[in-house]
Amino acid sequence: MTTPTLLLDDTQCPENFDSLIINVNIATFSKQYGFDRALAAANAVNDVKNVPDSHKSYGQILNAAIAITDGKISWIGDSAHVDRVNNTARQDKLMDANGQWLLPGFIDCHTHLVYAGNRSNEFEARLQGVSYQQISDDGGGIVATVSATRKASFDTLYQQSERRLQAMLAQGVTCLEIKSGYGLDLATERKMLQVARKLGEDYGITVKTTYLAAHALPVEYKNSDFKNQANGADKYIDKVCEWMAVLNQEGLIDAVDGFMENIGFNQAQMIQVFEAAKALGLPIKLHAEQLSDMDGSGLVAKYKGLSSDHLEYLSMANVALMAQQDVVAVLLPGAFYTLKETKLPPMDALYQQNVAIALSTDCNPGTSPLTSLLMVINMGCTLFGLTPEQALAGVTTHAAKALGLAHRKGSIAVGMDADLTLWDITRPADLAYQMGLNPLTKVMVDGVWQE
Ligand SMILES: [Zn+2]
Repeated sequence: MTTPTLLLDDTQCPENFDSLIINVNIATFSKQYGFDRALAAANAVNDVKNVPDSHKSYGQILNAAIAITDGKISWIGDSAHVDRVNNTARQDKLMDANGQWLLPGFIDCHTHLVYAGNRSNEFEARLQGVSYQQISDDGGGIVATVSATRKASFDTLYQQSERRLQAMLAQGVTCLEIKSGYGLDLATERKMLQVARKLGEDYGITVKTTYLAAHALPVEYKNSDFKNQANGADKYIDKVCEWMAVLNQEGLIDAVDGFMENIGFNQAQMIQVFEAAKALGLPIKLHAEQLSDMDGSGLVAKYKGLSSDHLEYLSMANVALMAQQDVVAVLLPGAFYTLKETKLPPMDALYQQNVAIALSTDCNPGTSPLTSLLMVINMGCTLFGLTPEQALAGVTTHAAKALGLAHRKGSIAVGMDADLTLWDITRPADLAYQMGLNPLTKVMVDGVWQE
């Protein structure tokens, strides 16, 4: 370590804090403390000799102290400077972390957390040799989830989704994105978004809602009223745009997403959805290049979208466009794993062009029934070759960026929201290396320690 204290606030710890943590090692993921996306990427391509000393992996500060006031980080200093604090009246606000590691609260930036039912029956059938086609002919797949979600009452949908949320919170998630997209009609898309909003309110965490009615073509648009599926899909997309305006008016939409794929919607249809979003001032993102190269990421760049997600089939040209517009690449190793995909996203090109890489569970009942962000961190390293530093940046600062929240969440610096996680680990890489161990000891949300 070279003179880390130079980066710290050299003043004495302020008097008016609500919480003070001492003897803590901090992985800040903040530029201010030496974290650098490009240098972290250089580390990943074995270019360590070109990484200057000024780069601090994880933006780490050892043996630090951190003060929180009014829900924000108000001071970060050397733990030694706190020795001068001897106001016994404030002892109850003080926590000695005994050398544990403090990280930003984890952010899961791509989830389909709200849905009813599950598809373990299909998982079992497939392993017994039943084909995807047969499962689909029997009303399985996304059709089964849409049907269960339409039928579920608000309370049933809430209760089933809440269990998944609780599993995420238990692993340090303090902010997440939740998509609609299993309603595919106005009433059920609304119900899903309302459940997402209520989960955020009830648990006091940040939930960003994403309108994903352009997820799949509902059965009622596949029937004989429409001469062919393309015609039905066009009619459906008209509805998607109409409902978007209604649900946005109701304050239920923070961003708009779609599934652009040879088995999803085409470019003309996605342009129509993005134009509708743009007219309402809503940011966009896209499920793109998961199964084929449809040029979706180029479209996201054109609309200056927040993120392009999946990206196994991403072209070099579109990596460059994403870099130009600073679009986040959201990688979803859970789906890659479940589908036994073998084609990797173009990792070297993403590093070389300095594209921010986020990681997420993609929690959904079909391709990624996963609620463990810790497992995702491990998979990001094992399957995609990320370094632990990059993988952890992918669930903190880069995930915040994918939700348009990087100015206040995802890194630890003065003025940022006090969403923090404390881990009983030797070094941050423990979180990427261990599978099935949860060393989380404490979580702070908005400056308040959670029970
Ligand atoms: Zn998804």
